[in-house]
Amino acid sequence: PTCPFAVIADPPIRSIRPFKSSEQYLEAMKEDLADWLRNLYELDIDTANFLETLETGQLLCQHANAVTQAAQNFLAQSPALAQKIWLPRSGVCCNGAAQPRTFQARDNVSNFIHWCRKEMGIKEVLMFETEDLVLRKNEKHVVLCLLELGRRAWRFGVAAPTLVHLEEEIEEELRQELALPPPDPPPPAPPARQLTCCLSLQVQNLVSRCTCPVQFSMIKVSEGKYRVGDSNTLIFVRILRNHVMVRVGGGWDTLGHYLDKHDPCRCTSLCESLSATEMLSPLFLLLCFPTPGGDYFGSSQDGQPPESTRGFYTTSAHSDRQPLPESSAPSGLEDIHTPRP
Ligand SMILES: [Zn+2]
Repeated sequence: PTCPFAVIADPPIRSIRPFKSSEQYLEAMKEDLADWLRNLYELDIDTANFLETLETGQLLCQHANAVTQAAQNFLAQSPALAQKIWLPRSGVCCNGAAQPRTFQARDNVSNFIHWCRKEMGIKEVLMFETEDLVLRKNEKHVVLCLLELGRRAWRFGVAAPTLVHLEEEIEEELRQELALPPPDPPPPAPPARQLTCCLSLQVQNLVSRCTCPVQFSMIKVSEGKYRVGDSNTLIFVRILRNHVMVRVGGGWDTLGHYLDKHDPCRCTSLCESLSATEMLSPLFLLLCFPTPGGDYFGSSQDGQPPESTRGFYTTSAHSDRQPLPESSAPSGLEDIHTPRP
């Protein structure tokens, strides 16, 4: 396979981007969703015109109806499997003439949101509000909702964003390690994906920017799996186009931002403690901490997940569980990393 990084000579590799590191994960997700929608509907959509393309709600309604149609096909072809999956039963009405920032646009978007809740069963924490899109108030919520919709519709045969496949790949790795049975019903086979050839190099490059007296440690356990810092924290790392992504909190972060938060020389006094609770997948917790209880389950401070992960954990079938509180994050500092909407 051709290596997307082979032609780039020196570090830092593509690290200078027009947004700060805390926004990189959102940009990476947006890019993934834009690619996905472009392929699905042959649209001219990218990260720059992402909200603009969605804001009249027409594409969202079109997608809702396509997903509903796919669910009906799935039901007809695999009635037994369909019993075990949440399927939408009806689509949405759409005003095809809606202009941006009009009542008609609001109606379309509102119809889509209602459909996500009622027909797809997407949980409130992953929903967005009409204003988030129509007035562009909160892009992140729109992105998280679309990704969750991608996860769910993938189970009955709708093409999914790449991140969904990466998540599934990690879950499968964890299941094999724990000798767990496959989920019921089994997830569809992912499409063939070009192997990324230089993940280790990318990781090395990002870690090597550490200027601590003793370099922040990130030890490769296996391909795409690393032990970080002085703790026993394991993280899964994947390449998504030109981003190095870390599975964290049931969602994703970029490795760059992750290191900004954990490598002492990069975060100075604002470091978040490395904690197993960053990996909120129940499979992952089982792998690392086979005995529930103890520190990771018993030291809840306020019953809330860390702010940095609160926004983007999933409610997918494999991690449908309340996020755990981070045991020793300094309270009040989280906002610095992830501003509240
Ligand atoms: Zn360092």
